[in-house]
Amino acid sequence: MIITDIRTAEVAIPLVTPFRTALRTVEEVRDVLVCVETDQGLQGFGEAPPTGVITGETLESITAAVQGWIRPALLGRDVMELEGIMKALHSCMVKNTSAKAAVDMAVYDLRAKALGVPLWKLLGGYRSQVETDLTVSVNAAGEMVRDSLSAVEQGFRILKIKVGRDSAGDLERLSAIRKAVGPEIRLRVDANQGWEPKEAVRIIRALEDGGVEPELVEQPVKAQDLAGMKLVRDSVLTPILADESVFSAGDAIRLIQLGAADLINIKLMKTGGIYGALQICAIAESCGVECMIGCMLESKLAVSAAAHLAGAKGVITRADLDGPSLCREDPYEGGPVFQGGQISLGDAPGLGFGPELLRTGAIFGKGNAQ
Ligand code: MG
Repeated sequence: MIITDIRTAEVAIPLVTPFRTALRTVEEVRDVLVCVETDQGLQGFGEAPPTGVITGETLESITAAVQGWIRPALLGRDVMELEGIMKALHSCMVKNTSAKAAVDMAVYDLRAKALGVPLWKLLGGYRSQVETDLTVSVNAAGEMVRDSLSAVEQGFRILKIKVGRDSAGDLERLSAIRKAVGPEIRLRVDANQGWEPKEAVRIIRALEDGGVEPELVEQPVKAQDLAGMKLVRDSVLTPILADESVFSAGDAIRLIQLGAADLINIKLMKTGGIYGALQICAIAESCGVECMIGCMLESKLAVSAAAHLAGAKGVITRADLDGPSLCREDPYEGGPVFQGGQISLGDAPGLGFGPELLRTGAIFGKGNAQ
């Protein structure tokens, strides 16, 4: 099955409420969609979000990377010869991990469709359901309490609380949320690099002593500050999760060797797709480190690829795949079912989307196959 064309398009979906972290504020999901076409008529789909503050990519750079660099490297290759495709994808240019991820997931979608199996079964077949948390954006304490209660009402049992924008108020925010939602709801805290190492130790110890008891604290300090991550990890009881500190398999090895975190957050947009994510899974599993799978502000297509990976691998013990729940509408035809905190992967081949991808019909226009 030979790759004959790779096409791109843009999708825009409004968010339920603006998404606010220590790094940015976003009003809508506006992503690049990718379609990989083959000589047998099958199509594979992928998606990449422009997360400039984390991967350095924009809508324009993702489209240019796919069309100008990745497409020429992959045209004419056989979808079943995965190693050759992945070597070409990762050596045709450095960085641009989201652009690569969109094409990577489309190739995996195609392979699973060609074999007639859902991707989660092709990659390992560990579980058909995945439970995700829901993110609560960083705002004033009262607003975050209201958002947390509304998430619990929607059926979420795990909340991911964004902090780190104004560290002086973080303790108050988290205490108020714990008091409102009660002891049964699991709270994950994500500082998005917003704290200094000693400040992080002070805040996390206070959370432990004050009964907030988060399940984990994600990326408390700067991504490059592995010594700071280790200081925090060694000084508190709460598990520390590395997110922005780990993009690649090499980053995972360095982090584990240093003992700088307890857990690793895998995101397809950091690893350049499923192929690189599987390498981190293998390293983490062999070192006894559990992983979370996360997403950027992505809509259901890209998040579904991450959910299939979570369904495949036992080492992925936590999921932060709430992109579709933050979107006001679902433009896709088919795919996994997201309901409350539960994601049901289903048995449709590949990622599980219909042949047109969108409910409104074709989006990729006429091909320019050669
Ligand atoms: Mg994070």
